[in-house]
Amino acid sequence: MTSPRFPSATILGYPRIGPSRELKRAVESYWAGKIDADELRSAERGLRLASYKRLRELGLTEAASIPESFSLYDQVLDVTVLLGAIPERFAGRTGYDLYFSLARGNDTAPPQEMTKWFDTNYHYLVPEIGPETPIGLADRGVVERFAEAREAGFDVRPTLVGPVTYLALAKAADGAPAEFSPLDRLDDVVDAYAELLGELAAAGAEWVQFDEPALTSDNLPAARSDLIAAAFRAWQQLAAVDPRPNILVTTPYGDASQAIPALTQTGVEAIHAAAGQLAPFAGSGVDFSEVVLVAGVIDGRNIWTADLGRAERSLQALEPLGAAGVSVSTTTSLQHVPYNTEVEKWDDPELDANLHEWLAFADQKVREVVVLAAGLTEGWGTIADEVRRSEDILARRSRSAGVVREDVRDRVAAVDESLRTRVEYAEREPKQRERLGLPPLPTTTIGSFPQTPQIRKTRAAFNRGEIDEAGYLEAIRAEIADVIALQEGLDVDVLVHGEPERNDMVQYFAELLEGFAVTSQGWVQSYGTRCTRPSILWGDVARTKPLTTEWTAYAQSLTDRPVKGMLTGPVTILAWSFVRDDLPIAQVADQVALALRDEIADLQAGGAAIIQVDEPALRERLPLAEEEHEAYLAWAVGSFRLATAVAEPSTQIHTHLCYSEFGQIIDAIDALDADVTSIEAARSRMEILPELAEHGYVRGIGPGVWDIHSPRVPSTEELTELIEAAVAAIPASRVWVNPDCGLKTRAYPETKATLENLVSAAKAVRGRL
Ligand code: GLN
Ligand code: ZN
Repeated sequence: MTSPRFPSATILGYPRIGPSRELKRAVESYWAGKIDADELRSAERGLRLASYKRLRELGLTEAASIPESFSLYDQVLDVTVLLGAIPERFAGRTGYDLYFSLARGNDTAPPQEMTKWFDTNYHYLVPEIGPETPIGLADRGVVERFAEAREAGFDVRPTLVGPVTYLALAKAADGAPAEFSPLDRLDDVVDAYAELLGELAAAGAEWVQFDEPALTSDNLPAARSDLIAAAFRAWQQLAAVDPRPNILVTTPYGDASQAIPALTQTGVEAIHAAAGQLAPFAGSGVDFSEVVLVAGVIDGRNIWTADLGRAERSLQALEPLGAAGVSVSTTTSLQHVPYNTEVEKWDDPELDANLHEWLAFADQKVREVVVLAAGLTEGWGTIADEVRRSEDILARRSRSAGVVREDVRDRVAAVDESLRTRVEYAEREPKQRERLGLPPLPTTTIGSFPQTPQIRKTRAAFNRGEIDEAGYLEAIRAEIADVIALQEGLDVDVLVHGEPERNDMVQYFAELLEGFAVTSQGWVQSYGTRCTRPSILWGDVARTKPLTTEWTAYAQSLTDRPVKGMLTGPVTILAWSFVRDDLPIAQVADQVALALRDEIADLQAGGAAIIQVDEPALRERLPLAEEEHEAYLAWAVGSFRLATAVAEPSTQIHTHLCYSEFGQIIDAIDALDADVTSIEAARSRMEILPELAEHGYVRGIGPGVWDIHSPRVPSTEELTELIEAAVAAIPASRVWVNPDCGLKTRAYPETKATLENLVSAAKAVRGRL
């Protein structure tokens, strides 16, 4: 059999939000009724065609080398619609109405749940699959997009979430019997995909890509070996479809070494895995002679210029496998990185110009892939200059000022356990109680108050130079004064300054610390139309000036009640940034921790009696592979403790975690050794508290009683009930009363009304203790 030719260069997927977030704007305009369905359709199409054109310009010129990886909102949602696997509450809806209802809910039906896509910051919509859920080929969008591209002169490669991964990421629909698993419906999904393959063949598609990252993950309800067995069956069945396009199955995000041997025997034409996971199969007896290996050599998730010499060697290491062919690719879709470094203003003094050549966003990564493919097909000598250039860049980067700061390295090297350890809680607790003199069930908030359009406008005007620094600072002060007065008026016990000066809880710190850069256009999709602009941690981290003390001191000067100092913790700062790849993460975390430690010391010296260090990312950064948990938790918890252990016994350290699913990290949360931990609890109606109590958690806990994700104002009675449920599960002396999270996305009317009810409810329960 002669093997079909797979293009020598490809990527697994390309960002789809648009280089200037055009998709976000189009979709949000459609929601707001400012454009109609036809206009949205044409915006979508325009974006798809622009991506193909761009990718061709960048060198993806072979047939099927351009992935058709567009999604209007989410690639998992796309498969739900493709299969018609629509929960009953959306019955009768079609087209955009159905699609966006599934994503965002509507008047009568709550949306599908959203959760993290493997260990990334991207979120997908969780399919709900039951024994009766309809599953078939219900939507031909994939075929239509292929035809649309072809008509415009592009031979693209349709790209979909694979059948096993789709079901592995699904949850059992409400009412499904306890023994039911969504994977029980695999045959139905395979049938639908088989039909789709036939239609794609008829449309002229040469290759189709199916992403099966579930086969690399330990963190799914089904065991990995079960998923691989299911995939073996499913892919054998799909490979038997005739006629069909050639099939590429990809295994990104995790360890593919168990999946690879199984996939080689299914009859699919090409398999993708990270090159480093393929190479060890040399001499293993696994037969690759019938499959093309699509080798992930360019990292799809970091933003650093690759070492092409190293990539060349990892491609050469695949030769002994004797595969039917080797192609060059990225390790994952590029949906996790921004589009293009070239659009940044590199002459802006705020942005270290050195970074320019160190960075590779999606477009630069496509170029790297194309160069390596040329080396692979035309001889490595032909790309020797490019390889040398990349090595020179890396050498310059390693020597560049700020990348290594001896003072920072020495300080981290000298850290020992004593710096991470406070005196026993039993000793701290009475000192804090005496110093603070708070009533039982003290009320507080999580930090931010509504970021009004006025604040945003003021910040934008300041950034554009339309108002001067003095004017900006004055506006922020006025806002803080209002927030303090409001909380005093509401009789809240522990106040916050409201964070009006912060654009974002990570970027604010990144802008003030050494070792970070902030881009102006480096957006990545978080979910749907929501994008974030991660900061870039490129050098040794140092704090050369205070970060927050002035605002906290100002707020405290306005009131006799305690005002919390408010910081973002080291794990969250790293999790929501692009982090350097040339230093172990534990050391980077300790650098950030030491910077925060100095800030905490200064806040404390300035009189702050309570300092909150937020770690909402602690849970989400937990690695997928179980064997990596211990090392992760060691550095994550260690860095938090390094930052906070500078606190005197009488200084109360709070932490805030945005979620309630902490089963896997309950020990870690305890080990943070914070005096008070606030968590999400309103939606689960305090159900998590017994779990904490059982675990032996004995310090303060603030179970959120207000779900701030919605503008609904809970009544005093409802809040009273939740507080009563809390004190039934946990001794009242340890319970704090607060919302689930910060209020920055809320508006003032519901904020005032709810806080008023919250304070009344706390007082009511307090009166009955
Ligand atoms: N202190 C932050 C705020 O209130 C916490 C935000 C978060 O946990 N995501 O906005
Ligand atoms: Zn939160």
